[in-house]
Amino acid sequence: MGYIVEMGEIFLAGNYKREKLAFVKGAGTRLFTEDGEEYLDFTSGIAVCNLGHANSELKEVLETQAKLLWHTSNLYYTAPQAKLAKKLVELSFAEKVFFANSGAEAVEAALKLARRFAYENFGKDKNCFIALENSFHGRTFGALSVTGQPKYWEGFEPLVPGIIFVPPNDKKALKKVFNEKVCAIIIEPIQGEGGIYPLDKEFIELTKELCEKFNALLIFDEIQTGIGRTGKLFAYEHFEIEPDIMCLAKALANGLPLSAMLAKEKVMNSLKPGTHASTFGGNPLACAVALKVLEIIGNPSFLKEVSLKGKVLKEKIEKLNKEKPGIIKEVRGIGLLIGIEFNISANEIYNKFLEKKILVTQPKPNIIRLSPPLIINYREIDFFVETFKEIIYSIKS
Ligand SMILES: *Cc1c(COP(=O)(O)O)cnc(C)c1O
Repeated sequence: MGYIVEMGEIFLAGNYKREKLAFVKGAGTRLFTEDGEEYLDFTSGIAVCNLGHANSELKEVLETQAKLLWHTSNLYYTAPQAKLAKKLVELSFAEKVFFANSGAEAVEAALKLARRFAYENFGKDKNCFIALENSFHGRTFGALSVTGQPKYWEGFEPLVPGIIFVPPNDKKALKKVFNEKVCAIIIEPIQGEGGIYPLDKEFIELTKELCEKFNALLIFDEIQTGIGRTGKLFAYEHFEIEPDIMCLAKALANGLPLSAMLAKEKVMNSLKPGTHASTFGGNPLACAVALKVLEIIGNPSFLKEVSLKGKVLKEKIEKLNKEKPGIIKEVRGIGLLIGIEFNISANEIYNKFLEKKILVTQPKPNIIRLSPPLIINYREIDFFVETFKEIIYSIKS
């Protein structure tokens, strides 16, 4: 065990289940340990480093901005923040942008905006939220309260009241609970931490329909699915439905802390001066990098490549499953956000990937998630599938 791991084990909070691995350098799809060992990264730091590690174009933007201005607070305007807001509006359904630093903060902002909008337009009794079972929206109290996985609540209750959970894709259950008291419904178009479960188009259409009927807002949590991950800049584009509010974070600044809550102007107008704030939110360094991220990923030919690579990777895994059936139960996902569900526990498979120096994530005991940097090449996809094949054949079943 290296010195970094040892020091971390002594001094860091024990809230993460970490590998005994410390990285000192990244380059593209690769991460390097202190001993110079090389890992192929199929996690992108949980769908964050979509343009890979230490991306040279982003590095240049960061260096330039670092020489100019780091922070002013939101008492003033800065060029990177204003430009990034303009770019996000141009590229999405939204008309206004609020910046924060993490996913959970973007979710908090969305929930607060929805309540405030309902309060101003329909009165204080319209304050309930609908959320989905098996969802994940973050760890702060508000975000945790709309997270539909009781294991994350244990020991932290009481949570924020007024939240109703519905099983994903259950149209009947959704119709049953929707009423005038609902101010918003929050959904992930593809449940990420829940194990890569895309929602049905008809279910999403119904959320929109019911929101319109009951004057509620539709919140899309695209913290994991946004910024090109699914082959569209935002996953809502796959469903031909526009939300009222959207949360972005993870890949927005490719690893610098930045999140955004986007909305139509008439909705965002409820955030009047003093209603909500963040000291660091939209800091110039992160915003400058994010602007470049959107310039690169927002290019239609880049997004087309993501779709194609995702399709090839998924097809190769499905082919492998035909060759050696019984171990893989299902392959799900869109673009380069792929979940592989196994008929067995995925622990052994996860560990074998790690032994073979490929990093993947395991959102559920029997599910492996693949979220490689979007810049991954076909050679690396082939290498991954070859390795996966060796692993599948080595499993005794
Ligand atoms: C990661 C994630 C969050 C939480 O983001 P943090 O930056 O960890 O607070 C919220 N929603 C979804 C869908 C996520 O994937």
